[in-house]
Amino acid sequence: MTKTRVGIFGYGNLGRGVELACRQNDDLELVALFTRRDPAKVVPATADVAVYAADDLAAHVDDIDVLVLCGGSANDLPEQTPACASLFNVVDSFDTHANIPAHFAQVDAAAQAGGKVAIISAGWDPGMFSIARLYASSVLPDGRDYTFWGRGVSQGHSDAIRRIDGVADARQYTVPVPAALEAVRNGENPQLTTRQKHTRECFVVAEEGADLAAIEQAIVEMPNYFADYDTAVTFISQEELDRDHAGIPHGGSVIRSGATGERGEHTHVVEYSLKLDSNPEFTGSVLAACARAAHRLSREGAVGCKTLFDIAPAYLSAKSDEDLRAEML
Ligand code: NDP
Repeated sequence: MTKTRVGIFGYGNLGRGVELACRQNDDLELVALFTRRDPAKVVPATADVAVYAADDLAAHVDDIDVLVLCGGSANDLPEQTPACASLFNVVDSFDTHANIPAHFAQVDAAAQAGGKVAIISAGWDPGMFSIARLYASSVLPDGRDYTFWGRGVSQGHSDAIRRIDGVADARQYTVPVPAALEAVRNGENPQLTTRQKHTRECFVVAEEGADLAAIEQAIVEMPNYFADYDTAVTFISQEELDRDHAGIPHGGSVIRSGATGERGEHTHVVEYSLKLDSNPEFTGSVLAACARAAHRLSREGAVGCKTLFDIAPAYLSAKSDEDLRAEML
Protein backbone atom coordinates (compact mmCIF):
# COMPACT_ATOMS: atom_id res chain seq x y z
CA MET A 1 0.00 0.00 0.00
CA THR A 2 1.32 3.46 -0.88
CA LYS A 3 1.11 5.74 2.13
CA THR A 4 0.22 9.38 1.72
CA ARG A 5 1.89 11.68 4.23
CA VAL A 6 -0.65 14.38 5.06
CA GLY A 7 -0.11 17.82 6.57
CA ILE A 8 -2.99 19.98 7.82
CA PHE A 9 -2.77 23.78 7.64
CA GLY A 10 -5.34 25.45 9.93
CA TYR A 11 -6.69 23.68 12.96
CA GLY A 12 -10.34 24.61 13.46
CA ASN A 13 -13.45 22.44 13.02
CA LEU A 14 -12.42 21.27 9.56
CA GLY A 15 -8.80 20.67 10.55
CA ARG A 16 -10.01 18.36 13.33
CA GLY A 17 -12.33 16.65 10.80
CA VAL A 18 -9.40 15.88 8.49
CA GLU A 19 -7.33 14.67 11.45
CA LEU A 20 -10.09 12.21 12.44
CA ALA A 21 -10.50 11.06 8.82
CA CYS A 22 -6.77 10.25 8.61
CA ARG A 23 -7.23 7.92 11.60
CA GLN A 24 -9.86 5.96 9.65
CA ASN A 25 -7.71 5.46 6.55
CA ASP A 26 -4.65 3.22 6.88
CA ASP A 27 -3.05 4.70 3.76
CA LEU A 28 -3.20 8.28 5.12
CA GLU A 29 -0.58 9.21 7.69
CA LEU A 30 -0.99 12.56 9.42
CA VAL A 31 2.54 13.87 9.91
CA ALA A 32 2.13 17.54 10.90
CA LEU A 33 -0.28 20.34 11.78
CA PHE A 34 0.46 23.96 10.91
CA THR A 35 -1.19 26.95 12.56
CA ARG A 36 -0.91 30.74 12.51
CA ARG A 37 -1.41 30.71 16.28
CA ASP A 38 1.25 29.86 18.87
CA PRO A 39 1.84 26.11 18.15
CA ALA A 40 2.35 25.45 21.88
CA LYS A 41 -1.27 26.51 22.47
CA VAL A 42 -2.80 24.31 19.77
CA VAL A 43 -3.39 20.82 21.14
CA PRO A 44 -4.16 18.17 18.51
CA ALA A 45 -6.55 15.33 19.25
CA THR A 46 -3.88 12.90 18.04
CA ALA A 47 -1.19 12.87 20.74
CA ASP A 48 1.89 12.16 18.62
CA VAL A 49 1.31 14.70 15.83
CA ALA A 50 3.75 17.61 15.70
CA VAL A 51 2.34 21.17 15.57
CA TYR A 52 4.40 23.79 13.74
CA ALA A 53 4.07 27.50 13.06
CA ALA A 54 2.68 28.34 9.61
CA ASP A 55 5.89 30.31 8.96
CA ASP A 56 7.80 26.99 9.01
CA LEU A 57 5.78 25.39 6.18
CA ALA A 58 8.55 25.68 3.59
CA ALA A 59 10.93 23.70 5.82
CA HIS A 60 8.65 20.66 5.55
CA VAL A 61 8.24 20.28 1.79
CA ASP A 62 10.07 16.94 1.83
CA ASP A 63 8.05 15.49 4.74
CA ILE A 64 4.58 15.95 3.25
CA ASP A 65 2.95 14.46 0.16
CA VAL A 66 -0.26 16.50 0.38
CA LEU A 67 -1.06 19.60 2.46
CA VAL A 68 -4.77 19.91 3.31
CA LEU A 69 -5.78 23.54 3.75
CA CYS A 70 -8.46 23.99 6.42
CA GLY A 71 -8.69 27.77 6.69
CA GLY A 72 -11.86 29.77 6.12
CA SER A 73 -13.09 30.47 2.61
CA ALA A 74 -13.76 34.16 3.19
CA ASN A 75 -10.27 35.36 4.11
CA ASP A 76 -7.80 32.47 4.53
CA LEU A 77 -7.98 30.22 1.46
CA PRO A 78 -7.81 32.95 -1.24
CA GLU A 79 -4.31 33.70 0.11
CA GLN A 80 -3.20 30.38 1.58
CA THR A 81 -4.02 28.00 -1.28
CA PRO A 82 -2.12 29.89 -4.03
CA ALA A 83 0.77 30.53 -1.62
CA CYS A 84 1.09 26.83 -0.75
CA ALA A 85 0.31 25.33 -4.18
CA SER A 86 3.74 26.09 -5.61
CA LEU A 87 5.42 24.20 -2.73
CA PHE A 88 3.04 21.31 -1.97
CA ASN A 89 0.33 19.20 -3.55
CA VAL A 90 -2.71 20.77 -1.88
CA VAL A 91 -6.42 20.20 -1.25
CA ASP A 92 -8.89 22.87 -0.10
CA SER A 93 -12.64 23.25 0.55
CA PHE A 94 -13.11 26.76 -0.92
CA ASP A 95 -16.87 27.25 -0.90
CA THR A 96 -17.55 30.78 -2.14
CA HIS A 97 -19.27 29.48 -5.28
CA ALA A 98 -19.18 32.74 -7.27
CA ASN A 99 -15.41 33.10 -6.79
CA ILE A 100 -14.39 29.53 -7.67
CA PRO A 101 -13.30 30.38 -11.26
CA ALA A 102 -11.00 33.18 -10.02
CA HIS A 103 -9.65 31.00 -7.20
CA PHE A 104 -9.04 28.19 -9.71
CA ALA A 105 -7.01 30.52 -11.97
CA GLN A 106 -4.81 31.74 -9.11
CA VAL A 107 -4.18 28.28 -7.71
CA ASP A 108 -3.56 26.81 -11.16
CA ALA A 109 -0.86 29.40 -11.92
CA ALA A 110 0.92 28.56 -8.64
CA ALA A 111 0.59 24.78 -9.03
CA GLN A 112 1.82 24.91 -12.63
CA ALA A 113 4.82 27.00 -11.57
CA GLY A 114 5.73 24.53 -8.82
CA GLY A 115 4.89 21.34 -10.75
CA LYS A 116 2.27 20.38 -8.12
CA VAL A 117 -1.33 19.12 -8.07
CA ALA A 118 -4.04 21.20 -6.36
CA ILE A 119 -7.61 20.04 -5.79
CA ILE A 120 -9.88 22.94 -4.81
CA SER A 121 -13.50 23.28 -3.65
CA ALA A 122 -13.74 19.75 -2.28
CA GLY A 123 -16.31 18.97 0.42
CA TRP A 124 -20.05 18.47 0.03
CA ASP A 125 -21.23 21.75 -1.54
CA PRO A 126 -19.15 22.41 -3.49
CA GLY A 127 -17.99 18.83 -3.73
CA MET A 128 -20.19 15.75 -3.58
CA PHE A 129 -23.27 17.84 -4.50
CA SER A 130 -21.42 19.24 -7.53
CA ILE A 131 -20.66 15.72 -8.79
CA ALA A 132 -24.30 14.72 -8.26
CA ARG A 133 -25.45 17.75 -10.30
CA LEU A 134 -22.97 16.97 -13.08
CA TYR A 135 -23.85 13.28 -13.37
CA ALA A 136 -27.61 13.86 -13.37
CA SER A 137 -27.57 16.76 -15.84
CA SER A 138 -25.25 14.84 -18.21
CA VAL A 139 -27.65 11.90 -18.28
CA LEU A 140 -30.86 13.98 -18.33
CA PRO A 141 -30.15 17.06 -20.49
CA ASP A 142 -33.85 17.93 -20.66
CA GLY A 143 -34.61 18.75 -17.04
CA ARG A 144 -34.21 21.04 -14.05
CA ASP A 145 -31.82 21.04 -11.06
CA TYR A 146 -32.84 21.69 -7.48
CA THR A 147 -30.67 21.97 -4.39
CA PHE A 148 -32.21 21.94 -0.92
CA TRP A 149 -30.01 22.52 2.12
CA GLY A 150 -30.78 21.41 5.66
CA ARG A 151 -31.97 20.98 8.19
CA GLY A 152 -28.56 22.23 9.22
CA VAL A 153 -26.50 24.91 10.90
CA SER A 154 -25.28 27.75 8.70
CA GLN A 155 -22.13 29.16 10.31
CA GLY A 156 -22.27 32.26 8.09
CA HIS A 157 -25.85 33.12 9.12
CA SER A 158 -25.09 32.37 12.79
CA ASP A 159 -22.11 34.75 12.61
CA ALA A 160 -24.26 37.44 10.97
CA ILE A 161 -26.72 37.31 13.90
CA ARG A 162 -23.88 37.44 16.45
CA ARG A 163 -22.74 40.74 14.96
CA ILE A 164 -26.08 42.45 15.83
CA ASP A 165 -26.00 44.82 18.84
CA GLY A 166 -27.34 43.12 21.96
CA VAL A 167 -26.74 39.54 20.75
CA ALA A 168 -24.48 37.38 22.92
CA ASP A 169 -24.66 34.15 20.89
CA ALA A 170 -26.76 32.53 18.16
CA ARG A 171 -27.37 29.43 16.06
CA GLN A 172 -29.15 29.53 12.69
CA TYR A 173 -30.72 26.51 11.00
CA THR A 174 -31.57 26.40 7.30
CA VAL A 175 -34.68 24.28 6.78
CA PRO A 176 -36.14 23.06 3.46
CA VAL A 177 -39.88 23.66 2.96
CA PRO A 178 -41.45 20.15 3.04
CA ALA A 179 -44.12 20.91 0.38
CA ALA A 180 -41.51 22.20 -2.08
CA LEU A 181 -39.30 19.16 -1.52
CA GLU A 182 -42.25 16.84 -2.04
CA ALA A 183 -43.33 18.56 -5.29
CA VAL A 184 -39.81 18.23 -6.70
CA ARG A 185 -39.54 14.58 -5.62
CA ASN A 186 -42.87 13.93 -7.37
CA GLY A 187 -41.41 15.18 -10.64
CA GLU A 188 -43.75 18.20 -10.79
CA ASN A 189 -40.89 20.51 -11.90
CA PRO A 190 -42.14 23.53 -9.92
CA GLN A 191 -40.69 27.05 -10.37
CA LEU A 192 -39.70 27.96 -6.82
CA THR A 193 -38.70 31.31 -5.37
CA THR A 194 -36.05 31.56 -2.65
CA ARG A 195 -38.80 31.99 -0.03
CA GLN A 196 -40.66 28.90 -1.25
CA LYS A 197 -37.62 26.61 -0.93
CA HIS A 198 -36.18 27.28 2.54
CA THR A 199 -37.08 28.80 5.89
CA ARG A 200 -34.65 29.99 8.54
CA GLU A 201 -34.81 29.25 12.29
CA CYS A 202 -32.75 31.42 14.60
CA PHE A 203 -32.00 30.64 18.26
CA VAL A 204 -30.64 33.77 19.89
CA VAL A 205 -29.11 34.52 23.28
CA ALA A 206 -29.62 38.22 24.06
CA GLU A 207 -27.43 40.30 26.34
CA GLU A 208 -29.07 41.39 29.60
CA GLY A 209 -31.41 44.36 29.04
CA ALA A 210 -31.20 44.13 25.23
CA ASP A 211 -34.16 45.26 23.11
CA LEU A 212 -35.53 41.91 21.87
CA ALA A 213 -37.94 43.45 19.35
CA ALA A 214 -35.11 45.45 17.79
CA ILE A 215 -32.91 42.35 17.55
CA GLU A 216 -35.71 40.36 15.90
CA GLN A 217 -36.35 43.15 13.39
CA ALA A 218 -32.63 43.45 12.60
CA ILE A 219 -32.53 39.73 11.87
CA VAL A 220 -35.64 39.29 9.72
CA GLU A 221 -34.89 42.42 7.66
CA MET A 222 -31.18 41.69 7.10
CA PRO A 223 -30.58 41.86 3.33
CA ASN A 224 -29.08 38.80 1.57
CA TYR A 225 -29.16 36.72 4.77
CA PHE A 226 -32.82 36.76 5.96
CA ALA A 227 -34.96 39.33 4.11
CA ASP A 228 -35.85 36.90 1.30
CA TYR A 229 -36.90 34.10 3.69
CA ASP A 230 -39.59 33.37 6.24
CA THR A 231 -37.52 33.60 9.41
CA ALA A 232 -38.45 32.48 12.93
CA VAL A 233 -36.55 34.00 15.86
CA THR A 234 -36.58 32.30 19.28
CA PHE A 235 -34.80 33.80 22.29
CA ILE A 236 -33.21 31.23 24.60
CA SER A 237 -30.65 31.18 27.42
CA GLN A 238 -26.95 30.45 26.91
CA GLU A 239 -27.45 27.19 28.84
CA GLU A 240 -30.19 26.11 26.40
CA LEU A 241 -28.03 27.04 23.41
CA ASP A 242 -25.08 25.08 24.78
CA ARG A 243 -27.27 22.11 25.71
CA ASP A 244 -29.54 21.86 22.65
CA HIS A 245 -27.57 23.44 19.81
CA ALA A 246 -23.93 22.46 20.32
CA GLY A 247 -23.63 20.20 17.26
CA ILE A 248 -22.85 21.20 13.67
CA PRO A 249 -25.26 19.03 11.66
CA HIS A 250 -26.05 19.73 8.00
CA GLY A 251 -27.05 18.05 4.78
CA GLY A 252 -29.57 18.38 2.02
CA SER A 253 -30.55 17.05 -1.36
CA VAL A 254 -29.54 17.61 -4.96
CA ILE A 255 -32.40 16.63 -7.20
CA ARG A 256 -32.67 16.61 -10.99
CA SER A 257 -36.03 16.08 -12.55
CA GLY A 258 -35.83 15.26 -16.26
CA ALA A 259 -37.83 13.88 -19.13
CA THR A 260 -37.18 11.46 -22.00
CA GLY A 261 -39.35 9.92 -24.71
CA GLU A 262 -40.67 11.20 -28.04
CA ARG A 263 -42.77 13.90 -26.38
CA GLY A 264 -40.96 14.00 -23.03
CA GLU A 265 -43.71 11.78 -21.64
CA HIS A 266 -41.45 9.82 -19.25
CA THR A 267 -40.19 11.64 -16.19
CA HIS A 268 -37.17 10.64 -14.12
CA VAL A 269 -36.11 11.98 -10.74
CA VAL A 270 -32.50 11.59 -9.61
CA GLU A 271 -31.75 12.43 -5.97
CA TYR A 272 -28.54 12.51 -3.98
CA SER A 273 -29.06 13.31 -0.34
CA LEU A 274 -26.87 13.78 2.73
CA LYS A 275 -27.78 13.77 6.42
CA LEU A 276 -24.67 14.82 8.26
CA ASP A 277 -24.34 14.68 12.03
CA SER A 278 -21.15 16.71 11.75
CA ASN A 279 -20.57 18.98 8.77
CA PRO A 280 -16.80 19.43 9.41
CA GLU A 281 -16.17 15.71 10.00
CA PHE A 282 -17.90 14.76 6.74
CA THR A 283 -16.21 17.58 4.83
CA GLY A 284 -12.89 16.52 6.35
CA SER A 285 -13.52 12.98 5.15
CA VAL A 286 -14.02 14.24 1.57
CA LEU A 287 -10.78 16.24 1.81
CA ALA A 288 -8.95 13.14 3.05
CA ALA A 289 -10.13 11.12 0.04
CA CYS A 290 -9.02 13.98 -2.21
CA ALA A 291 -5.58 13.99 -0.56
CA ARG A 292 -5.21 10.37 -1.68
CA ALA A 293 -6.26 11.34 -5.22
CA ALA A 294 -3.91 14.33 -5.33
CA HIS A 295 -0.98 12.15 -4.30
CA ARG A 296 -1.80 9.53 -6.93
CA LEU A 297 -2.23 12.15 -9.67
CA SER A 298 1.07 13.75 -8.70
CA ARG A 299 2.89 10.39 -8.78
CA GLU A 300 1.54 9.93 -12.31
CA GLY A 301 3.01 13.28 -13.36
CA ALA A 302 -0.13 15.42 -13.35
CA VAL A 303 0.30 19.13 -12.65
CA GLY A 304 -2.08 22.05 -12.07
CA CYS A 305 -5.40 22.82 -10.42
CA LYS A 306 -8.32 20.37 -10.48
CA THR A 307 -11.82 20.22 -9.05
CA LEU A 308 -13.76 17.06 -8.22
CA PHE A 309 -15.01 17.13 -11.83
CA ASP A 310 -11.50 16.23 -12.98
CA ILE A 311 -10.85 13.37 -10.55
CA ALA A 312 -11.68 9.87 -11.75
CA PRO A 313 -13.82 8.27 -9.00
CA ALA A 314 -11.38 5.38 -8.52
CA TYR A 315 -8.63 7.84 -7.55
CA LEU A 316 -10.60 8.74 -4.40
CA SER A 317 -10.67 5.15 -3.17
CA ALA A 318 -8.08 3.28 -1.13
CA LYS A 319 -9.11 0.08 -2.91
CA SER A 320 -7.28 -1.22 -5.98
CA ASP A 321 -8.90 -0.91 -9.41
CA GLU A 322 -9.29 -4.72 -9.45
CA ASP A 323 -11.10 -4.72 -6.09
CA LEU A 324 -13.33 -1.85 -7.16
CA ARG A 325 -14.38 -3.70 -10.33
CA ALA A 326 -15.06 -6.88 -8.36
CA GLU A 327 -16.93 -5.27 -5.44
CA MET A 328 -18.60 -2.09 -6.63
CA LEU A 329 -19.50 -2.26 -10.31
P1 NDP B 1 -13.03 27.51 11.76
O1 NDP B 1 -13.45 28.92 12.04
O2 NDP B 1 -13.24 26.48 12.82
O3 NDP B 1 -11.46 27.48 11.38
C1 NDP B 1 -10.93 28.34 10.39
C2 NDP B 1 -9.51 28.73 10.81
O4 NDP B 1 -9.57 29.58 11.94
C3 NDP B 1 -8.65 27.55 11.21
O5 NDP B 1 -8.00 26.99 10.10
C4 NDP B 1 -7.69 28.14 12.23
O6 NDP B 1 -6.51 28.58 11.58
C5 NDP B 1 -8.46 29.32 12.80
N1 NDP B 1 -8.99 29.00 14.13
C6 NDP B 1 -9.72 27.91 14.49
N2 NDP B 1 -10.01 27.93 15.80
C7 NDP B 1 -9.47 29.09 16.28
C8 NDP B 1 -9.44 29.70 17.55
N3 NDP B 1 -9.98 29.10 18.62
N4 NDP B 1 -8.83 30.91 17.67
C9 NDP B 1 -8.27 31.50 16.61
N5 NDP B 1 -8.24 30.95 15.36
C10 NDP B 1 -8.85 29.77 15.21
O7 NDP B 1 -13.75 27.11 10.39
P2 NDP B 1 -14.18 25.65 9.94
O8 NDP B 1 -13.03 24.74 10.14
O9 NDP B 1 -15.49 25.30 10.53
O10 NDP B 1 -14.44 25.87 8.37
C11 NDP B 1 -13.38 26.21 7.49
C12 NDP B 1 -13.95 26.44 6.10
O11 NDP B 1 -14.41 25.22 5.54
C13 NDP B 1 -15.19 27.34 6.04
O12 NDP B 1 -14.80 28.69 5.86
C14 NDP B 1 -15.94 26.85 4.83
O13 NDP B 1 -15.74 27.72 3.77
C15 NDP B 1 -15.29 25.51 4.48
N6 NDP B 1 -16.30 24.45 4.34
C16 NDP B 1 -16.53 23.94 3.09
C17 NDP B 1 -17.48 22.97 2.91
C18 NDP B 1 -17.73 22.38 1.55
O14 NDP B 1 -18.67 21.59 1.42
N7 NDP B 1 -16.94 22.70 0.54
C19 NDP B 1 -18.31 22.47 4.03
C20 NDP B 1 -17.92 23.03 5.32
C21 NDP B 1 -16.97 24.01 5.47
P3 NDP B 1 -5.11 28.59 12.41
O15 NDP B 1 -4.92 27.23 13.04
O16 NDP B 1 -4.09 28.90 11.37
O17 NDP B 1 -5.24 29.67 13.45
